[in-house]
Amino acid sequence: MSKYKIAVLPGDGIGPEVTDAAVKVLDSLQERVKGLRLELIYGEAGFNCIEKYGTNLPEETIQILKETDACLKGPMTTPEEAGAPPSAAVTIRKMFNLYANIRPCKSLPGAPALKPNIDLIVLRENTEGLYFGEEFEVTPGYGVALRVITREASERIARLAFKLASNRKKHLTIVHKRNILRVTDGIFRDAFIKAAEDFPDVHVDEVHVDAMTMRLIKEPERFDVIAATNMFGDIISDEAAQVVGGLGLVAGANIGDNYGMFEPVHGSAPKYAGLNRVNPIAMIMASKMMMEYLGEEEAAELIEKAVIAVLREGKVRTYDLGGSSKTSEVGEAISKKISSID
Ligand code: NAD
Repeated sequence: MSKYKIAVLPGDGIGPEVTDAAVKVLDSLQERVKGLRLELIYGEAGFNCIEKYGTNLPEETIQILKETDACLKGPMTTPEEAGAPPSAAVTIRKMFNLYANIRPCKSLPGAPALKPNIDLIVLRENTEGLYFGEEFEVTPGYGVALRVITREASERIARLAFKLASNRKKHLTIVHKRNILRVTDGIFRDAFIKAAEDFPDVHVDEVHVDAMTMRLIKEPERFDVIAATNMFGDIISDEAAQVVGGLGLVAGANIGDNYGMFEPVHGSAPKYAGLNRVNPIAMIMASKMMMEYLGEEEAAELIEKAVIAVLREGKVRTYDLGGSSKTSEVGEAISKKISSID
């Protein structure tokens, strides 16, 4: 029997709706996969907690994260005023040292990808760079943000990038802006060049981040693993998500040595909150990545097959894919498919 404790943080905005759909899928997965038991432990986090607890990540929720095998996290609204609590996602990544953010983007049937044969991963260093969040107003009107890049973190993400690439199409693209950011991006880039010595079968190239945004649109099918620092990786992965059909489809794994958190790439899309309209597939694919992380390959494969089957049929699809189905209807269709698929 494979038993896991899973922290479920529905978040806010569209978070609870897409989380409900993903949980429905996990329920039917447990009926389908012999011996799979998931104990879901719900925790509060996100914008709505700030008034109640003075933080978007209450202590009780941190405790739940510490006691579970993995976390399925919905999107959360981050207030933008100076002094407001930092993003809950960023806090969790730092707290559990989830140094790798893996965001696969693949053309799927029935989704409006720019090309039919895109299959790439954006790998983002997840703990430093500009998202480190250290900003100061030195004197009024003169602000400074720290962009910390270390050799240690760069080498760690470089090794993972090469491992991923060597198990795929053996092509790794390093994204940086070393012509301008010579020190920080120099450290990042050099870590990859050093790691390349241990992976002679992987073809390596490097692209400046501005050129990368253009090439992702022009020739996305030519990429395999794209590795970048924290902020560049965040921006590129939103673009890559749109290139394969939109934010409603793409998920990300946040992985460290001892814990994993899985979430859609999209945010809380407040204008759609409570409307039961958005696409839950990104959140469902996050749960697929979580099953992979837990070593439950059969379960992960079933989720992906069910998503592809529902997309291919094209009968149940949300507005972003040209349909008018509800979030809950897509969740139900994928969940039903899991029970019936070969
Ligand atoms: P967003 O991703 O929430 O939404 C941008 C647009 O993308 C939406 O208006 C909608 O048109 C589309 N979209 C997003 N998710 C979709 C879905 N599932 N189905 C269909 N269409 C979808 O980005 P934003 O508006 O920049 O951010 C809103 C809030 O989310 C902000 O407070 C931001 O800080 C937060 N955010 C949180 C996370 C996270 O929790 N990890 C990530 C990104 C943004």
